[in-house]
Amino acid sequence: MALSDQALERFAAIVGQDQVLTKPEDLIPYGFDGTAALKRMPQVVILPGSTEEVAACVKVAAELGLPVVGRGSGTGLSGGSVPVENGIVLCLVRLNAILEVDARNLTMRAQAGVITQKIAEAAAAQGLFYPPDPGSIRISTIGGNVAENSGGLRGLKYGVTRDYVMGLQVVLADGEVVELGNKCVKDVAGYSLKDLFIGSEGTLGIITEVLLKLLPLPAARRTLLASFDTLEAAAETVSAIIAARIIPCTLEFLDQMTIQCVEDFSKVGLPTDCAALLLMETDGHPAAVEDEAQRMEAIAVQHGAKAVRRAATEAESLELASARRNAFSSLARKRPTTILEDVTVPRSELAVMVRFIAETAARHRLAVGTFGHMGDGNLHPTFLTDERDEEEMARVHLALDEIVGKTLELGGTITGEHGIGLAKKQWLEQQMGGAAYKLLGEVKRAIDPRNLLNPGKIIS
Ligand SMILES: Cc1cc2nc3c(=O)[nH]c(=O)nc-3n(C[C@H](O)[C@H](O)[C@H](O)COP(=O)(O)OP(=O)(O)OC[C@H]3O[C@@H](n4cnc5c(N)ncnc54)[C@H](O)[C@@H]3O)c2cc1C
Repeated sequence: MALSDQALERFAAIVGQDQVLTKPEDLIPYGFDGTAALKRMPQVVILPGSTEEVAACVKVAAELGLPVVGRGSGTGLSGGSVPVENGIVLCLVRLNAILEVDARNLTMRAQAGVITQKIAEAAAAQGLFYPPDPGSIRISTIGGNVAENSGGLRGLKYGVTRDYVMGLQVVLADGEVVELGNKCVKDVAGYSLKDLFIGSEGTLGIITEVLLKLLPLPAARRTLLASFDTLEAAAETVSAIIAARIIPCTLEFLDQMTIQCVEDFSKVGLPTDCAALLLMETDGHPAAVEDEAQRMEAIAVQHGAKAVRRAATEAESLELASARRNAFSSLARKRPTTILEDVTVPRSELAVMVRFIAETAARHRLAVGTFGHMGDGNLHPTFLTDERDEEEMARVHLALDEIVGKTLELGGTITGEHGIGLAKKQWLEQQMGGAAYKLLGEVKRAIDPRNLLNPGKIIS
């Protein structure tokens, strides 16, 4: 059913005619996110410029019974911002102001459409630190990060987006604006409602502002790169570092296929004659950093590292970290379609999982590159395929089913950071169990009783 001219006029009266997109050529970029093969053209994309405009648009949508899909930069990897039938897409990128950096309380208030990198830069300009750093940091929005509860390369030591959200401004399904949380370090008044919205993938409310916790910038940092002949040796090194009571900020893993693709793309001198690489980074007080770097190097060597390279300069550290950030885009250059998984297992099961992924891909005659946040047990097996080849795609889906099944068998989770969206819905009940899954539905119905916000995502 096409949206009526009257409906479009009401949205245009709120945001301005030029912020209501309806021409097919303008709509194409909003028809998909970073997830391959999940696409749907929106009927209309609306770009509000303020919280008031978001609230007014949601009110009109509620009155007309139109579903609303919130959208940041569309980098999501589970289909969360893919448009729904007969709905509107509300894209938040014009809400892009940093409203306050409060150096006395170590907080920052920003609108939801600010690019994550800008948040980190605004904090650093005051000697402060916003730790969550998804690989998409240069393009994702902070609102998208909160909606997905995104992780990043520093999750092991610093946690994920949720750990830095002190407050939220949210537009509810009926257009009402609520403020949740505050600058207090401690606050146990009532249920922690803000936490319900973190990771809710646009299904409970539209986030318009965020209040973030900041930390002092670490004084020193050391980056090391260890190469291994076997995947197991890299996985065991990770377990041994944690067992030695070292919590580095970064413990990232790249397998042979990923290393080769990253090196072809980034040319930073990664060794390509090994089965696996570990990128290890420690930060904090200079003396502690030096001690941890030495101990991590020794542990890697004890567990069979062929070589350990220490970044000599800050520029080299950044170069190695950004080579890792480019893993997904480097793999994506190989074949027309890239299907990226996001399974997480208890760290003690990493070696088993890494081996299972490689064997499963080989059994189904598929090309897979695996990289991930190994310190968090979070792996991203990435299938390089071609969605036009139905026979190969059927094999990819079989392999994915087996990988997800093994993850659950090992006590893992079907998503460590990319969310459920459309891509993972089919396994959610299996992971959660019937009673918990039912509770999830009751929460959704309590907050969005007419199922207008991102319907069909997370829950069927
Ligand atoms: C190259 C690459 C690397 C990546 N690396 C990581 C990584 O290391 N860690 C990680 O966790 N993820 C990673 N991602 C996934 C993705 O970048 C994150 O999920 C990110 O948080 C999405 O932000 P976005 O602004 O693009 O949101 P979108 O993709 O636009 O939206 C994501 C979801 O959030 C909802 N949403 C967006 N904005 C709002 C809002 N203001 N209010 C309510 N709901 C909203 C949408 O409806 C959708 O469900 C990566 C993606 C790419 C392409």
